[in-house]
Amino acid sequence: MADDETGSVSLTGTGLHLAFGRNKVLRGVDLHVDAGKTVTVIGPSGSGKSTLLRVLNRLHEPDAGDILLGGESVLHDSPDRLRRRIGMVFQHFNLFPHKTVLDNVALAPRKLQKMGKEQARALAREQLELVGLAAKAGARPGSLSGGQQQRVAIARALAMRPQVMFFDEATSALDPELVKGVLALMADLSSSGMTMVVVTHEMGYAREVSDAVLFMDQGIVVETGAPERLFEAPETERLQRFLSQVL
Ligand code: ADP
Ligand code: MG
Repeated sequence: MADDETGSVSLTGTGLHLAFGRNKVLRGVDLHVDAGKTVTVIGPSGSGKSTLLRVLNRLHEPDAGDILLGGESVLHDSPDRLRRRIGMVFQHFNLFPHKTVLDNVALAPRKLQKMGKEQARALAREQLELVGLAAKAGARPGSLSGGQQQRVAIARALAMRPQVMFFDEATSALDPELVKGVLALMADLSSSGMTMVVVTHEMGYAREVSDAVLFMDQGIVVETGAPERLFEAPETERLQRFLSQVL
């Protein structure tokens, strides 16, 4: 269900719990992203950020809590259907090295949406255009820079026409000079009205483009709010300590 005329949807997680054995990784996490907005998740390594994304797209089923897209619970729906509505970009792009850039992007619509070959390739070309890599359609991923490969991975996710995009440390594996281009693309996507959840260590990005920031530690949301407030006036000692280490 669309929340507004652009077709963007809101995403909500309420009271999310997940344990791996005795390790309680999520201990009642609430998160809300308005349609077309970007929420950034920050926090120390091991705090549960990646797990939160994986629960939100049901790669892990939550032990408790609910997940809503466009205000409707998706927990009774099939996990596969949900995953097609949420595009995901990881630190490691995992492109197929022996396929062209174009075929890497066309593959998911072909396989998952049973799209015809020519239609899938036309769609893939459109998405490559969008990420500024139309000229690389015929190249092998290995001949591209890390930043270009990550932009191909973003095009691949967008080719599924997702309603929400997740980014999990999408720039962490890139050489510093390549980070900017990928962040700029993510910022474009954000201002185009995509609903996004971004896990990042790039505090400058978090501050510039997010509508809200969520600080996690040990499986709970310790602090959340507008970026200016969080970065300029952190209320908790834990966030103060975290920011003093990363800024
Ligand atoms: P972050 O992304 O914030 O660094 P993670 O969500 O990756 O944190 O991990 C949070 C905790 O969950 C860690 O203690 C990690 O060992 C544990 N964990 C993550 N994934 C699994 C898994 N598939 N099986 C068991 N434990 C896991
Ligand atoms: Mg992680």
